[in-house]
Amino acid sequence: MKTKIETIKQAINAAVEKGGKQQAVTLVAVSKTYPAEAIEEAMACGIFDFGENKVQELTHKLAVLPDTARWHLIGHLQTNKVKYIIGKVALIHSVDSLKLAEEIDKQSAKSGIVTPILIQVNVAKEPTKFGFEVEEVVAAIRHMATFKHVQIKGLMTIAPFVDDPEQNRPLFKKLFALSVDIEKQNIDNISTKILSMGMSNDYRVAIEEGATIVRVGTALFGQRDYTV
Ligand SMILES: *Cc1c(COP(=O)(O)O)cnc(C)c1O
Repeated sequence: MKTKIETIKQAINAAVEKGGKQQAVTLVAVSKTYPAEAIEEAMACGIFDFGENKVQELTHKLAVLPDTARWHLIGHLQTNKVKYIIGKVALIHSVDSLKLAEEIDKQSAKSGIVTPILIQVNVAKEPTKFGFEVEEVVAAIRHMATFKHVQIKGLMTIAPFVDDPEQNRPLFKKLFALSVDIEKQNIDNISTKILSMGMSNDYRVAIEEGATIVRVGTALFGQRDYTV
């Protein structure tokens, strides 16, 4: 795993260089379906940010792993499950409705905390994917900016799986442009500086286009086994 991590980190640095945006990039290791031991091995190699897409798996893992791990919820979150993760995750990447943001606000208020979130944008307009349409994002953010217990930190997108990662470049460009646009509007209490985009297949292209968080699973941990 050490070699894989080194290779990915070098690829990240090369992509930042090539893209010319000079941004800092956080590697989130997507640990869904992998056992706690795999996460411990990654931690021993200096990786501390982990992405999970299911609440139950996430809460199980955070209970058994050292609290130096930082957890990122990257999958669709049902409102009735919000209460289980509030105060336990570093960042929720997948806020895809006003109703969900409202529930995160409510549960965070109960715990007396402010929860950092990203707004998921369905840039590719895939009918099967969650997220706001590009055209809806500004209005949604203006609404959420009034919530006192959520803090919008940026935008996230899940690009389609494609053979050639270049095919996703226009989507990444679009999300970057949207974030710049929103940043210019200086909306109180919100920022869109974090851009969570790019996975194993296309993280290099995403970084060239401005990603500040990449979510990498298989390139780091190997193929997932969904049968277990
Ligand atoms: C599984 C998953 C990833 C990681 O995908 P890989 O192709 O294994 O790198 C990234 N983001 C989300 C939202 C995921 O569900």
